[in-house]
Amino acid sequence: MSQPVVNIGMVGHVDHGKTTLVSALSGVWSDTHSEELKRGISIRLGYADCTFYKCKNCNEPECYCTTSKCPTCGGDTEEIRTISFVDSPGHETLMATMLSGAAIMDGAVLVIAANEPCPQPQTKEHLMALDIIGIKNVVIAQNKIDIVSREDALKHYNQIKAFVKGTVAENAPIVPISAQQKVNIDVLIKTIEEKIPTPKHDLDKPVTMFVARSFDVNRPGTTPAKLSGGVIGGTISHGKLAVKDEIEIRPGRRVESENRESWVPITTTVTRLIYGGEAVDIATPGGLLAVGTKLDPAMTKSDGMAGQVVGKPGTLPPVWQKFVMKTQLLDRVVGVSEDEKVKPIATSEPLMLSVGTSMTIGVVTSARKDEAEVKLKRPVCAEVGSRIAISRRIGARWRLIGVGELIG
Ligand code: GDP
Ligand code: MG
Repeated sequence: MSQPVVNIGMVGHVDHGKTTLVSALSGVWSDTHSEELKRGISIRLGYADCTFYKCKNCNEPECYCTTSKCPTCGGDTEEIRTISFVDSPGHETLMATMLSGAAIMDGAVLVIAANEPCPQPQTKEHLMALDIIGIKNVVIAQNKIDIVSREDALKHYNQIKAFVKGTVAENAPIVPISAQQKVNIDVLIKTIEEKIPTPKHDLDKPVTMFVARSFDVNRPGTTPAKLSGGVIGGTISHGKLAVKDEIEIRPGRRVESENRESWVPITTTVTRLIYGGEAVDIATPGGLLAVGTKLDPAMTKSDGMAGQVVGKPGTLPPVWQKFVMKTQLLDRVVGVSEDEKVKPIATSEPLMLSVGTSMTIGVVTSARKDEAEVKLKRPVCAEVGSRIAISRRIGARWRLIGVGELIG
């Protein structure tokens, strides 16, 4: 398999078939945490790599497949490209995870099950998140067509059309599929190829990688001498990384002394670079990458490093403990059954801010009409101009209420 070159998000309401579709495309079941298997939902970001191929003999769309031998004629195929699918949870309490995943998506497949009225709450909320984060290349997969009549599928198609009107997905192609029965997957691949191109990446800029996951890969009981260092997973947005490179991770580690907390950047060395289980010497942008380091695995276990940013020492963007953001609020709160109006941001309210793959609570220290100053519970490493997804606690949940731009 070649190195993945693009990240595509799987988004949509819980149980609409995102994980099943990732599996149909890649052969990998992305719900890998035992906790997730038990509950049958994706809690963390899942990811799976998949190579698309095109048969040299067959016509469109049958020529599109996910195997190196054509399943239609048995002939040879040509490799098109390898994609990392980011499988986000569609459960309403896990919106923050979806948002941190959206930060690394180059495009998205919005999965909408045809056996329920459209839109369901998280169908709406996820589409709004794509809009806010600025993901324009969207393909809609109308799933589960195996269990609805042709007539109901057409009715549902019209509901989708009405729902996406005026959003980033207004002109998104809608492909009817069955992820479970693998129906029309070839058409879906063709549509993804046409609608979600590989972005142009700048390899000459200093490397920046957004950390989305982190792991301790050691089995319990491994003796200290045999312990592997911590592994961080994420995506490089520009530049490249090589084995043996020195890296800096920011904001880094929290240290407390004399009741004052501060954050200290971490430096370590790249020991391994892995895409989809295969080791490489040099990693480039696009695709989800696992980076082996010399860090203590206790630091990286259970996504402990998610939200951090990796680069060469001295080249990373600033770390902010507080900042001012320009804000633009939505008219209505999405994702609740009864849509309600978004009230202005108020001084001293806590907001959940998603900046890149990082999520942090920001307490508003000063709110003006379209600007807010926030003090962060956990600092973030980000460029001026970064986009921020803003959520507010409404009832028992964090709800997306708008978008911000970091201005300093
Ligand atoms: P997710 O929450 O969006 O990741 O949904 P899952 O992929 O976990 O699927 C939820 C349920 O729907 C599972 O029981 C799947 O087997 C089922 N499912 C997924 N795709 C299809 C489909 O195309 N047809 C039918 N009949 N069931 C499906
Ligand atoms: Mg799932």
